[in-house]
Amino acid sequence: MNLFTPPPETKWNVLNLGAGVQSSCLALMAAKGEITPMPDFAVFADTQAEPQSVYDWLDWLEKQLPYPVYRVTKGSLTENELAVRVNARNGETYLKQNIPVFGRKPDGVIAASIGRKCTSDYKIIPILRKIKELCGISRGQKEITVTQWIGISYDEMQRAKLPRDKWAQHRWPLLELKMRRYQCLDWMKENGYPEPPRSACVYCPFHSDTEWRRLKDEEPQEFKRAIDFDTQIREATAKHYKSFRMEIFLHKSCKPLDQVDFDNDEDKGQQVWDFQAECEGMCGV
Ligand code: SF4
Repeated sequence: MNLFTPPPETKWNVLNLGAGVQSSCLALMAAKGEITPMPDFAVFADTQAEPQSVYDWLDWLEKQLPYPVYRVTKGSLTENELAVRVNARNGETYLKQNIPVFGRKPDGVIAASIGRKCTSDYKIIPILRKIKELCGISRGQKEITVTQWIGISYDEMQRAKLPRDKWAQHRWPLLELKMRRYQCLDWMKENGYPEPPRSACVYCPFHSDTEWRRLKDEEPQEFKRAIDFDTQIREATAKHYKSFRMEIFLHKSCKPLDQVDFDNDEDKGQQVWDFQAECEGMCGV
């Protein structure tokens, strides 16, 4: 896998659009012809849990691009997280965990983040499904006909991965240009574009404390949504998923979100994630 050289040309070029800093910068650089060839289209996978600022940004961004942006969704991640399911074998109810929540065991021990299927189920699979449809990928196809552009910047190159399917290859144009995240922001500014918002579900447990604090200060309505979801998922799990035996939290400190002091060292559990706090930074779409 050569991260820094464009792969051989294919019939299709498709941009995975997370609508955060990196992929937005990439989308606009391509639109201006600074990266070639022009993508045939971009795909944005909507968890329906992004802050309004991301949807507003996407509405604006679409108008700047000479190629179409397709929005795909598996449905509401929020509703699916809270949906009560029944085990057909024993009749017990449970909740399906998709997002990487934290859990506190009855003995007080805090478990590391539990599970994480949201990236695959709500981002990667819907995007691949749309690409297959639009690019006419046949069942079992092994010939590479699609190049997927991924907006990973130079400072996070460890996230670059090989594609799952034989018909696709990945390309990382920002790595080819050795562009870091701050350089994407500089490029946007130099070209007269506004600064993109952070792209991630409002309640993503991968948020750094910096991002939680920013959400609280700058987008209080969205922070309130996250608090409500934090409460709902904890209560629903306690009530309907008794065999789980852990109390669920969105913040690693295992405190309710509205009780976390994001400036207090004691509560700073998430420094490990403190480098991007974006779905496209974490999900890697
Ligand atoms: S932003 Fe977080 S919660 Fe949302 S899909 Fe990505 S990893 Fe999952």
